[in-house]
Amino acid sequence: SELLKISGLHASIDADGIPKEILRGVDLVVPPGEVHAIMGPNGCGKSTLSYVLAGREEYDVTAGSVSFMGQDLLAMEPEERAAAGLFLAFQAPVELPGVNNANFLRTAVNAVRRARGEPELDAVGFLKTVRAATKNLSMSDDMLKRNVNVGFSGGEKKRNEVLQMTMLQPKLAILDETDSGLDVDALRIVAEGVKNLRSPDFSALVITHHQRLLEYLGPDRIHVMVRGRIVRSGGPELAKQIDVEGYASFLTEAA
Ligand code: ADP
Ligand code: MG
Ligand code: MG
Repeated sequence: SELLKISGLHASIDADGIPKEILRGVDLVVPPGEVHAIMGPNGCGKSTLSYVLAGREEYDVTAGSVSFMGQDLLAMEPEERAAAGLFLAFQAPVELPGVNNANFLRTAVNAVRRARGEPELDAVGFLKTVRAATKNLSMSDDMLKRNVNVGFSGGEKKRNEVLQMTMLQPKLAILDETDSGLDVDALRIVAEGVKNLRSPDFSALVITHHQRLLEYLGPDRIHVMVRGRIVRSGGPELAKQIDVEGYASFLTEAA
């Protein structure tokens, strides 16, 4: 059975009036209950894949399909994707000046609960749930009173992202990690957040360069992306190979 199935996905972006193809036939399957990683050199299309799965309008899907829990993901509105159980954390988390972090989170949680036919959380119920989650993540409750991500340190943004993921209880979390500038603590926060959610009902697709993060995570499977395509899939040994040899051999294969 498949939770996420991407088949022959091609996507382009308009670059000064000329369509530029970035995804050139991505094939990828994530079954329920598994943690997968995507690795690949800078510019190969990893972030583009996460944006296309999120439903960002600036990308044109020119071929292929994506099914999520048996539904046509590409036909769904971004909010419908979230309600169906897809969570996306981007390379650059959005800052929302003037938007209270706790209110933002409660709105997001209740939108998903409504879509699932579950009762919404009132202020008291939400506070109880969110306090348990922040405690579990060693987060200060102060962060709930601040504006979403505004003035947050890199580590605080990571914690906030993991808090959102924990509260939303997605079926699939897709996390696009920054290529640089993340300290070991931040990597651990993400890895622990994913590990805490590990269950037969939760899968994660983590996009990363960091060997360290993969060591903490212990992914079931690793996919190597080169020039807009998954060129190899395998076990954790693939990450070790990349750590030693880089992407040279994969680039040659793809050419
Ligand atoms: P990765 O996340 O693997 O580093 P990206 O998905 O960010 O790669 O980018 C893939 C390719 O698409 C790169 O060559 C990048 O320059 C190009 N690209 C991304 N966004 C745009 C854009 N808005 N206009 C033109 N080219 C873009
Ligand atoms: Mg990049
Ligand atoms: Mg990227």
